[in-house]
Amino acid sequence: MINVSEAQWLHIDIMDGVFVPNISFGFPILEAIAPLLKKELDVHLMIEDPMKFVRQFAKLGVATMNVHYEAVTHLHRAVSAIRQEGMKSAVTLNPHTPVEVLTDILEDLDMVLLMSVNPGYGGQKFIPRTLDKVRRLKQMIDERGLPTLIQVDGGVNQKTGQELVSAGADSLVAGSYVFGHADPLEAIAGLHALMP
Ligand code: ZN
Repeated sequence: MINVSEAQWLHIDIMDGVFVPNISFGFPILEAIAPLLKKELDVHLMIEDPMKFVRQFAKLGVATMNVHYEAVTHLHRAVSAIRQEGMKSAVTLNPHTPVEVLTDILEDLDMVLLMSVNPGYGGQKFIPRTLDKVRRLKQMIDERGLPTLIQVDGGVNQKTGQELVSAGADSLVAGSYVFGHADPLEAIAGLHALMP
């Protein structure tokens, strides 16, 4: 279904039960998915010490590696290592982390992922304050003329998606909205149509 959909990427949440209170899955599942997938693979690592696995993700053909700001001490080193392995570098911020913490690293990021729910579970309600964060981040990116993309994950549906795109989001991650929809292809097409 995803391969024939209008989705551009497959975004996968990997949880370790330590950084977030839930466990999702790891390499055996990714290894099963990767060869079947005709879309770019975007891994969102909700795990402690994500850099331990940078080479393994690159080997799987991952296009974008998303690490949490809150889980990485030496962020510049991490981002450089992700790019050295040939992947796009993305940094994720939890709802309580202000976008301004990325001031001195924004130039090195291909994408910033703003969490619009607390990471760990699907099906949560969108935190409206995220819209202000998207606007502030968009302003930081535009002021410097950077190509950095803004992605948002959590509580995305047709309504919040519209608000996010108006605020400056470039990429919408949707889980429950798509997979709980009577017609997932239609749900994806609807979100895709929001993009300018
Ligand atoms: Zn995610």
